[in-house]
Amino acid sequence: QTKKIAEQLTSTCSYCGVGCGVLIQKEKNGNIFVEGDKNHPSSKGMLCSKGLNLHHTVNDKSDRLLYPQMRYNKSMPLQRVSWDDALERSAAVFKTFIEKYGPNSVAFYASGQCLTEEYYVINKLIKGFIGSNNIDTNSRLCMSSAVVGYKMSIGEDSVPICYDDIELADCFYVTGANPAWCHPIIWRRVEAHKAANPDVKIIIVDPRVTDTCAIADLHLQLNPGTDITLNHAIGRLLIEQGYIDINFIQQHAEGYEAYKAVVFEKSLEEAAHICGLNPNDIRLAAQYIGEAKGFISMWTMGLNQSAIGTNKNLSLINLNLITGQIGKPGAGPFSLTGQPNAMGGREVGGLSNLLPAHRNLNNPLHRQEVQAFWGGKEIQEKPGLTATEMFEALETGQLKAIWILCTNPLTSLPNTRQAEAALKKAKFVVVQEISNKPETLAYADVVLPAAAWAEKEGTMTNSERRITYLHKAVDAPGEALPDAEIICKFAQKMGYNSFSYNNVEEIFIEHTKLTKGTNIDIFGLNYTILKEHRSIQWPYKKHKQNGTKRLFEDKKFYTPSQKAILHAVPDTLTSEKPNPDFPFILTTGRIRDQWHTRSKTGKVNKLNQHIKQAYLEIHVQDAEQLELKEDDIAIITSARGEVRAKVKIGNTIKPGVVFLPMHWGKILGNDLNRANNITNDLLDPISKEPDFKYCAVKVAKY
Ligand code: SF4
Repeated sequence: QTKKIAEQLTSTCSYCGVGCGVLIQKEKNGNIFVEGDKNHPSSKGMLCSKGLNLHHTVNDKSDRLLYPQMRYNKSMPLQRVSWDDALERSAAVFKTFIEKYGPNSVAFYASGQCLTEEYYVINKLIKGFIGSNNIDTNSRLCMSSAVVGYKMSIGEDSVPICYDDIELADCFYVTGANPAWCHPIIWRRVEAHKAANPDVKIIIVDPRVTDTCAIADLHLQLNPGTDITLNHAIGRLLIEQGYIDINFIQQHAEGYEAYKAVVFEKSLEEAAHICGLNPNDIRLAAQYIGEAKGFISMWTMGLNQSAIGTNKNLSLINLNLITGQIGKPGAGPFSLTGQPNAMGGREVGGLSNLLPAHRNLNNPLHRQEVQAFWGGKEIQEKPGLTATEMFEALETGQLKAIWILCTNPLTSLPNTRQAEAALKKAKFVVVQEISNKPETLAYADVVLPAAAWAEKEGTMTNSERRITYLHKAVDAPGEALPDAEIICKFAQKMGYNSFSYNNVEEIFIEHTKLTKGTNIDIFGLNYTILKEHRSIQWPYKKHKQNGTKRLFEDKKFYTPSQKAILHAVPDTLTSEKPNPDFPFILTTGRIRDQWHTRSKTGKVNKLNQHIKQAYLEIHVQDAEQLELKEDDIAIITSARGEVRAKVKIGNTIKPGVVFLPMHWGKILGNDLNRANNITNDLLDPISKEPDFKYCAVKVAKY
């Protein structure tokens, strides 16, 4: 059927960090449909199942919030009010708490799905004008260990490679990731590269056999939590077998002797025993890496979402550094960003410990620069509350008010029942949302309807530092407004005049000015240039019209000495250990066709067909011992709560380990499918990222 196209607009997919280019076709009836944009360099016309169904989430407005709502007492129903009333009340309550209890009594909890301009104004408001650093986002649950890993090893949170390096590499070490499901379009490129070049080596490190393993030359099915042991063992073999790049180490790296000492603490056999692997397989991995001309390490949540996430990241980046596999074509450490704009958020400093343009909160000069630029209050040195800490502070009463936007913490936070209890205790809750489904709405004093993807304009940065402009294609329903506009209106109600932008591009331009002279310099960039070039990789220099593909080709890193730093990280697991009461290790993750808490993908029938409900993946031996059969309901219990899920039996997971998808929250008031009832809120001490991938549970037939 030929559709009557009124307009064609470019955008980028709003799900994962691959950031695929999307063409939005606007029909005359106002509906849209999408297809891949062949001119977008990151994805070259490809979209995965989620991206291909984006238009359904826009065309179906049945669940959308249409008007601001408010109540004076949580026992009363929410009632429709005007924008002025909702924002004036919110501003009055925030001002009261700030005057009475200080600026740290309020907080904003945002999302890696926010546009860069949205992140920018929230960050400016709380850090520069309210005078608190209490802004964190769900990127804390996702990328913060990678951020710290990059900062500690190469000096800044900067992904060194570009996607075009994929076709130039001949060895991939993919660890703690299932890109075939979670970053599909990047993985399609790896698959095509392997198909065309069968000698390219693919090593997968994962306690589960996933679809990613289909093209693996070697699958290291390690015991959960033993990543550092494995990476150190490979490091030792690379040293012993002369695969290291001694010139690179001597000229461009620091810390080699301490690193060497730490990786030689365990023999290969000891390491293999701890990891539950065959020593010969570890030898083969080292050989593949050592013989590679271009070696890419790829990782995501299996390394990041851990109580030792920072050290896991460092132990992996070390492998690229000792082999000199960084800053050259087809080589480098490559963190797969979870969310579409987690990187854009970090560029503007949208976490509780960051400042714009990769400046540091603990650097007085950086604080002064930003304060002078914004012309607001003195910026506080002490980092603000991180994601889980905000909810703990609500529970203790230290935090009085929280403003939640573009995320549903009551499905995505670890130990969710506790987070729910904390939100119940909050004195004042603002929920800025597109959908009427999230559980957070039950705790809201004020509900603000937000515009969704394709209903607003702005920019996002994907996993290869590529900034893309997203067009507005349709009007938001009812009175819903873009998130940046809502925050700016609120800031003005608070009395802060420097939020009176004429349009969203003015926010972007302001952000670019703050990057001038930094390592992420995009000064001079504007929407016209972005639209003309389709996308730009930071840093952007005018003579390099498409930005910078690859970092560190001059081998000058962003550390004070300009050398990369090898960290001799300890190999100590601090996670909750299995014990006689809770003998299994639980790990959680995404499935192919759902995105996070399902507020968008959950309303697309086609996507729900893939896997219809939460399930427990368990090894056949364990199932037999527990007398569980396929499709039985199992009850999975940890020290924090319980979950029920249909049993899926196989040999795709290690015995002693079970897996639950993370997407399902409360359904009709019932939280028994919610995996995060039982996950652990133990944090990595540096990155403050929770330990989603390892906790002790027991399993029984329901
Ligand atoms: Fe969207 Fe990621 Fe799929 Fe690309 S790979 S279409 S960005 S979900």
